[in-house]
Amino acid sequence: MRRPFVAGNWKMFKTVAEARVLITELLPGLTDIQGVEIVLCPPFTSILPVAALLEGTAIGVGAQNMHWEASGAYTGEIAPPMLAEFCKYVIIGHSERRAYFGETDGSVNRKVLAAIEHGLVPIMCVGETLDENEAGITSEVVTRQVKEGLEGVEAQSIGSIVIAYEPVWAIGTGRAATADGANAVIAGIIRALLAQMYGDELAGMVRILYGGSVKASNAGEFFRYADIDGALVGGASLQASEFIPIVKAAAS
Ligand code: PEP
Repeated sequence: MRRPFVAGNWKMFKTVAEARVLITELLPGLTDIQGVEIVLCPPFTSILPVAALLEGTAIGVGAQNMHWEASGAYTGEIAPPMLAEFCKYVIIGHSERRAYFGETDGSVNRKVLAAIEHGLVPIMCVGETLDENEAGITSEVVTRQVKEGLEGVEAQSIGSIVIAYEPVWAIGTGRAATADGANAVIAGIIRALLAQMYGDELAGMVRILYGGSVKASNAGEFFRYADIDGALVGGASLQASEFIPIVKAAAS
């Protein structure tokens, strides 16, 4: 039985002062919801204040990226042990990182391995671009991203990893995948591939999320599918009136 999982990716939004306001709006609606692992991923500067505000609740804190080295001369980067002081989760390989910051399946893999080594739960993002989708190569692309992203991940660690299927054309566009289409990739490609790589039992432990224009009005459609274990939510996670109903939909 996999526990539903909903993460909010705040991207490069919210100063510390704005983050405090959003947490104040979210907390009354989120703290009563049972049975869902809820994670908020603010920008680095707000991680510490958000973690402090969430102390004593079951809501987790995650980062949006990190370097794979534990320390070193990497100006501007953040190392896994620095995050591990305040966070339990880290988003790895978001399509915006792949598109604008040169992240590759190889760097995603190094980061996934580093997250595991330092006790962080990686939320590894995969998904095809619009061109790839229209060229009919979604399966090849997602298969490659999952295989390369997880290279070297031992069977004993796979159950704690979270994978987010986020078709790039659906992110921030308001044009979500259909629930049926998302399920075809999540169940038919990703979970089937995990079963080939790790066996059915371990593949059945991995939480696989859908991400891409999830809103209060469409979230429930995705969660009806047994293989879709939750959502990675971008824009709608910045509004309490959207994010709280999304988490409630995952709980039901
Ligand atoms: C995301 O940033 O991971 C995302 C899915 O964004 P949005 O929900 O805004 O499409």
